[in-house]
Amino acid sequence: MHESVVLAFDMGGTDLKCARVSKDGDVRGFKSVPSRALEGEAGIFAAVRAALDAIGGPLGPAVAGFGCPGITVPETGVLVDARPNVQLPLDFPMRAKLEALTGLRVALDNDANMAALAEHRVGAGRGARVSITVTVGTGIGAGIVVNDALMRGAHGGAGELGHMPVGLDGPACGCGVPGCGEPLAGGAGLAAQARAAGIEAQGAREVFESAHPKAAYLRERMVDALARQLGCAVQLLDPDVIIVGGGVSQAGEALLSPLRRALDRYVLTANRRHLRVVSAQLGERAGVIGAGLAAWDLLAAPRS
Ligand SMILES: [Zn+2]
Repeated sequence: MHESVVLAFDMGGTDLKCARVSKDGDVRGFKSVPSRALEGEAGIFAAVRAALDAIGGPLGPAVAGFGCPGITVPETGVLVDARPNVQLPLDFPMRAKLEALTGLRVALDNDANMAALAEHRVGAGRGARVSITVTVGTGIGAGIVVNDALMRGAHGGAGELGHMPVGLDGPACGCGVPGCGEPLAGGAGLAAQARAAGIEAQGAREVFESAHPKAAYLRERMVDALARQLGCAVQLLDPDVIIVGGGVSQAGEALLSPLRRALDRYVLTANRRHLRVVSAQLGERAGVIGAGLAAWDLLAAPRS
């Protein structure tokens, strides 16, 4: 008898993670191979084949889940734009190509959405009705889960928290929207500001650990930007919980405590009273676990 697991992938700019995932989100045989995300279609699909070889091909039901950067359209499985993290043409038929390669039905979604689905169902959001999972890494990603299902928007673009025009007078964002929070609240932006202020920082971690007098100000501004973005989302969605993951979240309470205080400023008391702000629980495996759960959902859904 086959063990009841499905194949799940989480593609990032550097690594392609792959595992078998049970219906309850248990991970078996976790592997990671280089994603070759900047080598175009040939490199990326060679990486998917390498991951399949590493994990040993399908064993269970004929479905797989695949999370990747960028906006994906749920109905068509088209990856609209994943640049600059993944070099593929605009409006790339990602799901069709993955299904042709693997011979499996594929559940495709944005990587932050996959991580949010996993945290909501089997991680820090268990028991919540509405959760927002924010990934604070190089940039800011987010996923919204309402009543156990991802809230993707009409065209797959919901949850672009980092690019909400919260009117901040900070560095310009690469997306072109004026006043985005991401250049101030994301790890890459924070590190760049630190270096400009004379602090030696490869990433956000050094800024959180620095005793440099300007580091405290930069941290405060980072948390304020993140709280403004999350505050808008809270007023709109009234979540039970905000789950904070991604590399920068490893700062733990050094990030979460000031973030909770800043949210007190930006959120109505009625919406703040029952809101929990917690660390993500699933770490670097959240994306593959969510991809696995999405594949199980696809198996249960009628074939369209
Ligand atoms: Zn932006």
